[in-house]
Amino acid sequence: MKTEQTTNESPIALDIPKPLDQLSDVELDRKSCIGRVMTYTLSNMTNYFTVNGFQWLLPVALSRSTDPLWPDPGASIDKRIEVDIYGETVRTTSSMIVHKLIASSLAYPKLFILSPNIRIEKAERARTGRHVYEFTQLDFEARGATSSDIMRLVEDAVSGLVESLKKDGGEDLRLLGRYDALKVTKRPFATYDAAKLEEEYGSDWEAKLVGEIKEPTWVINIPREFYDFEDFDSGRWDNYDLMMPGYGEVLSGSRRECEYEKMLAKMDRENVRKENFALILKLAKEGRVKPTAGAGIGIERIVGWITGAKHIGETQPFPKVPGTVYEL
Ligand code: AMP
Ligand code: MG
Repeated sequence: MKTEQTTNESPIALDIPKPLDQLSDVELDRKSCIGRVMTYTLSNMTNYFTVNGFQWLLPVALSRSTDPLWPDPGASIDKRIEVDIYGETVRTTSSMIVHKLIASSLAYPKLFILSPNIRIEKAERARTGRHVYEFTQLDFEARGATSSDIMRLVEDAVSGLVESLKKDGGEDLRLLGRYDALKVTKRPFATYDAAKLEEEYGSDWEAKLVGEIKEPTWVINIPREFYDFEDFDSGRWDNYDLMMPGYGEVLSGSRRECEYEKMLAKMDRENVRKENFALILKLAKEGRVKPTAGAGIGIERIVGWITGAKHIGETQPFPKVPGTVYEL
């Protein structure tokens, strides 16, 4: 289960995105073009969630509790950032999953956040073209929702985005050579089971799958962190990742675990430090963590897919490439 996925980690020659001041005029024009697609995507998606009744929460950067990112076959963290303030140790946000589950359970049944994620990825991940060490997730959660509710919502959001972008931003998509390649015609999206993909393709299934698919595709049943729902009898996980053709994962989500005993058993099984999750455990014990489902969309990744960026650092004004620290 803890096998490291090697997807996109081959040492291909890939230009590492440069900072703004080192770009040529042509490169600055391309940057600006990708920036317009980014603006359109943010505006379209935040509008989609607000009109569908989701409340927009502002992000947090420092907390005592954040995503353990363990055990996740896709995670590869070099260092965790902890700092002492007011006599307490806080961590930079690696994702707002714990915040989301508590916020959705207690006060904001349907919510979304443009959440900062700081993940000091191993330096070799600079070459995947899919990892940066600081990025933004459109993270959302809905109380009482099922996995299938969330998958249909995402399909609607992604198809709507591509369709209206082709209408309103067709010129930019043509400049980027992406107009014809971008296709979302089938709904619901095709769905594959990760266990079956692993049987068929081995641990490098993601690369194989995204090389074959022609449209956005779901992968379900992926063993990972304690907060995704696992059926202890069947061993199946009620979770889902969205894969883009020729590109890879842009979203991870799940129905959530809300039972105290199960959360505890999973933390024990995976050696997750329970003291970092005291609040959600306490609330779960009191029955105050509600059944929810949701997901996080990597904004740089989805814009990277739309624009055909070779490296997602290209979608960032100030690229945060693993292993390279620029002044800005
Ligand atoms: P996760 O829950 O870890 O799968 O993260 C949610 C989403 O964030 C992923 O589906 C990706 O779209 C995005 N993401 C995760 N790690 C990175 C990274 N290092 N750089 C850019 N985007 C990322
Ligand atoms: Mg993921």
